[in-house]
Amino acid sequence: MSTRLPQISGFSTAKIVQSLASNPGSFPVQSLYIHIPFCFHKCHYCDFYSLVDTRDRQVPFVARLLSELAALAPLSRGAPLRTIFIGGGTPTLLAPPLWAELLDGLSQHFDLSHIKAGRGEFTVECNPETASPELFALLQQGGVDRLSMGAQSFNPKHLKTLERWHDPASVPRAVGLARDAGFTRLSLDLIFAIPGQTLTDWEQDLTTTLDLGITHISCYALTYEPNTAMTARLKRGQFQACDEDLEVEMYELMVDRCTDAGLTRYEVSNFAVPGQECAHNLAYWQQEPWLAAGPSASAHLLDPAGGSWRWKNLPRLDDYLKKSDAGHPPARDLEAPDPRRLLAEQIMTGLRLREGLDLPALCAGVIDTTLKEQLAAVAHTQIARHHLAEREGHLQLTESGFLFADGLAGEFLALLS
Ligand code: SF4
Repeated sequence: MSTRLPQISGFSTAKIVQSLASNPGSFPVQSLYIHIPFCFHKCHYCDFYSLVDTRDRQVPFVARLLSELAALAPLSRGAPLRTIFIGGGTPTLLAPPLWAELLDGLSQHFDLSHIKAGRGEFTVECNPETASPELFALLQQGGVDRLSMGAQSFNPKHLKTLERWHDPASVPRAVGLARDAGFTRLSLDLIFAIPGQTLTDWEQDLTTTLDLGITHISCYALTYEPNTAMTARLKRGQFQACDEDLEVEMYELMVDRCTDAGLTRYEVSNFAVPGQECAHNLAYWQQEPWLAAGPSASAHLLDPAGGSWRWKNLPRLDDYLKKSDAGHPPARDLEAPDPRRLLAEQIMTGLRLREGLDLPALCAGVIDTTLKEQLAAVAHTQIARHHLAEREGHLQLTESGFLFADGLAGEFLALLS
């Protein structure tokens, strides 16, 4: 389905960056993701690339990261960045002097004028235990205007099940410090369907979160990713996964409580005060191009000839540090996805959005008439089942469709595999 590096030998991230940067028809890339891999400890459900911070590799990491940012900068073609998202890992574990270096480097290599004028978005993921007035002041000065905090739960028993190490009281404290520092755009991450969690427990987490008066919430059901400690414990029978009916009740409760509090669902798992949606994540979900730096970070670039490029950086910090290549991204997978693969991704992410999909427009580039008819037939079946509705030319999830969004997308994707 996609062309991998061995079949397109001679290509490298360095060559692609140079070729796109020197092509006058290239689109300026205006979104940037940076991955900071350090954490206090490994939470049992987590499959993001992260490692326990021993403080001895932060300095070489930031030096390597800055060289990668310098190598990527020509792809913005001098246009102001619209969104930056620094995630991880636990970015706020980075020592403040290194944060100062990173923010300074970003300003040197990229145009942050939109972001600093309040017309863009610059998010940093924050562990509430790491919140301090000094760090938040530094982030503010560097143009950061949005903090995304990992709360996951306010119940110590459920945090323990997740092996998530923070004191629930640190969350309201961090929110207060963020407000004192001038942040108005605050998001909290929550997890539901934790083994042993009741509907009442979940309602208490929602109440505590909404009482904080924040502008954005991301709530995901616990998933058992391969190779995580949580999945190994499940397989050993140490606990039972949450019952599916209870998970549905939790989802419905979350929708009701968030809606009552004035936060609108704009994606299956994301709620925001209108106007406070995460512009960076919307760029991903709407398949816009983005740059990516740091170990395991994935980039998506558009080619003016109509194709696109994807790559994922080497995930291990040691490998990332070793491979320099004049700062260019050390890619593990380099792909040029074909139109069917791109369409599959657009359907997978677009269907989860409140706006839904303009299927005929998306299919315009698909020349296979039979395939177009098959996709339209799946849409009609789902409309007949009341999982999708056609509104203003878009296919949108209905209330019951929101409960089966991934399975529903799977029916379209089966035709594209
Ligand atoms: S803090 Fe976040 S990135 Fe780090 S191990 Fe826990 S879930 Fe994973």
